[in-house]
Amino acid sequence: MQTTPRWLIANWKMNGDAAAVRAWAFAVNQALAAQAAPLRAVFCPPAIYLGDAGAALPANARLMLGGQDCHREEKGAFTGETSAAMLADKGCRFVIVGHSECRRSGDCDATVRAKAQAALAAGLTPIICLGEAQADYDNAGTQAALDRQLAGLGALPAGGYLIAYEPLWAIGANRTPAPTEIQAAHRHIKSVLGSSATVLYGGSVHAGNAREILALPEVAGALIGGASLEIASMCALITGATTTR
Ligand code: PEP
Repeated sequence: MQTTPRWLIANWKMNGDAAAVRAWAFAVNQALAAQAAPLRAVFCPPAIYLGDAGAALPANARLMLGGQDCHREEKGAFTGETSAAMLADKGCRFVIVGHSECRRSGDCDATVRAKAQAALAAGLTPIICLGEAQADYDNAGTQAALDRQLAGLGALPAGGYLIAYEPLWAIGANRTPAPTEIQAAHRHIKSVLGSSATVLYGGSVHAGNAREILALPEVAGALIGGASLEIASMCALITGATTTR
């Protein structure tokens, strides 16, 4: 029987509609409720559908809600943006910050840190994404790239956030690092942030590889994009995550 809590973060990105969000939240919560294992699952639908997800869940739901991003400021003239407090108001307990798709749109490390601080101030747990680009990986620069993104995160309260190690070249690519490479990256992140840091892996995780990845002792869970979209594949991931240790 698994005793260490495992995390599964489902990031829907800009996919789905209200009906799909409701059906998924209801079904996945039922699948979680049937598990005795201490699995922690977070659903991050598009912000506009957070209310639909919440409405589909019972009061004592095991499935938790998260935002996909938040603004660094508390409020103000930021058209189109969502504050951390707004996410909390819609039932979120988590928010992803620093996703590579947001970094590509301009979020630098200082912005990611500020968003994490805004999340903490609103009572949310930030899920901070970081990872090396293909060129870093090809040139043995993974640790240096991680160091650049980790600098400054030490100022955040230990235990107040989750890290998602997501090599950019593995996201949506149907390829993953070797298990030893995932272990090395996770160990490096923990050597910087402290051994108690919770570090998840993200990048092309699916039901076929989740068991092997989640069995690595350094890996506390997974952030899943594409393979989280369908109820059946998410339920297969839940099963995989509860039978790894
Ligand atoms: C992601 O977008 O963070 C991600 C992990 O996506 P995928 O699982 O599709 O690679």
